Amino acid sequence: MSDPSEALASAKAAADRLVKAKRLNACLTAPKDLRKSLLAQAQGAHPSGVLYGMPVAVKDNICTLEFTTTCGSKILEGYRSPYEATAVAKLRAAGALIAGKSNCDEFAMGSSTEHSVYGRTLHPFDKARVPGGSSGGSAALVAAGAVPAALGSETGGSVRQPASFCGVVGIKPTYGRVSRYGLVAFGSSLDQIGVLGRSVHDAARVLSVISGRDPKDSTCEDRDPLRLPTVPESLQGFVIGIPKEYFPPDLDPAVRRACDRVIRLFREQGAAVREVSLPHTPYAVATYYIIAPAEASSNLARYDGARYGPRFDGAVDVRALYRATRGQGFGAEVRRRILVGTYVLSSGYYDAYYRKAQQMRALIAQDFRTAFDRGVDLLFTPTTPTAAFKAGEKLADPVAMYLSDIFTVTANLAGLPALSLPIGRIKGLPIGGQFIGQAFLEDELIEAAYAVERVVPATTEA
Ligand code: GLN
Repeated sequence: MSDPSEALASAKAAADRLVKAKRLNACLTAPKDLRKSLLAQAQGAHPSGVLYGMPVAVKDNICTLEFTTTCGSKILEGYRSPYEATAVAKLRAAGALIAGKSNCDEFAMGSSTEHSVYGRTLHPFDKARVPGGSSGGSAALVAAGAVPAALGSETGGSVRQPASFCGVVGIKPTYGRVSRYGLVAFGSSLDQIGVLGRSVHDAARVLSVISGRDPKDSTCEDRDPLRLPTVPESLQGFVIGIPKEYFPPDLDPAVRRACDRVIRLFREQGAAVREVSLPHTPYAVATYYIIAPAEASSNLARYDGARYGPRFDGAVDVRALYRATRGQGFGAEVRRRILVGTYVLSSGYYDAYYRKAQQMRALIAQDFRTAFDRGVDLLFTPTTPTAAFKAGEKLADPVAMYLSDIFTVTANLAGLPALSLPIGRIKGLPIGGQFIGQAFLEDELIEAAYAVERVVPATTEA
């Protein structure tokens, strides 16, 4: 679109759809504020932008000027950022409309969007289930048709896992492809902003807009924005690796059937398919759950009641102020991560846990390099070991919750790009397949995903 009246109509329709989706508890912005803001944004949007008039919801751990940025936490209740994330600024410059803030696990720690102080987000197809997490609000809004695309964030799978659970496309870019400026830090060596979209094209075009250099983030590579590939005729010329560690004997047979169906399609589309081995995969979850909490414990030290958000006072001295604010402001999962992170970094345990985890991280990254050096272009795996689970099912068992990230954390540890797209249903619930690609070759992931999206029966039972 390029006509201001169309942008206005798009803003109104998005506001109506977001209000209709209210029962999901996926959007944290009050309907009245959202409508007002969307209409004002549509009036001021750049008509020549490539996303002109497109509503994009933004996860609540990404700073925006319009709305509060709370990270689903009491410790940031009512917090309004004085600046906006580069990704958000780029969206706005391309004419997109920021369609409210989406619910998430507190500080993006979780796999179900149950760890939000604002209540859990419901799965759009079955309200007894979770939408995945931590970007569950973004995934639910896209799946419910409220917005065509949304920003999420990835530290260990928080875009791909909810995309898989909700039946939408999720892309986690290469580390350094998208600026982290204005993304509230969780695990700085792992964090990336990612995109959820109702189709490969919607997710890819938003990614191309938010990607590229940013002088405000020194970990963002000095590269041009991603160029969108065209939809390929076939997969001729692609060598697709199937890592055997991602298909263990106890994998849910329906997940395996859905993946096998896609692998057959690869061959029919002209790709060469090869089994490969990534031998350090079994250590990935343990490695991730040392490194991510270690970095989180350091990053979250800034929430002390003195600088951001509310202060839980009545304290006699500064230590008591910190204790009261952090004790009451953080939820149980965040406190658990801070404790684990502080423990693995403390002298005496640093070598046993943190250093070991860093060494293992290097081996996991090396596994991928070896596979790519042997001529594989892309890897294909399930995104998650199961479809969406029931709310409450894993809340009391953090390790069971952590294991839902088993197929996603490796790409974050290795800094590689990965994409999840719907490949079928199990008893009516979506499941996703994942491509993992080589650093900065998101265009190859997107090309392959285009080819699969065209032919895969995404809503058929596996
Ligand atoms: N579920 C993972 C965790 O809890 C991943 C989170 C994320 O990617 N932000 O840490």
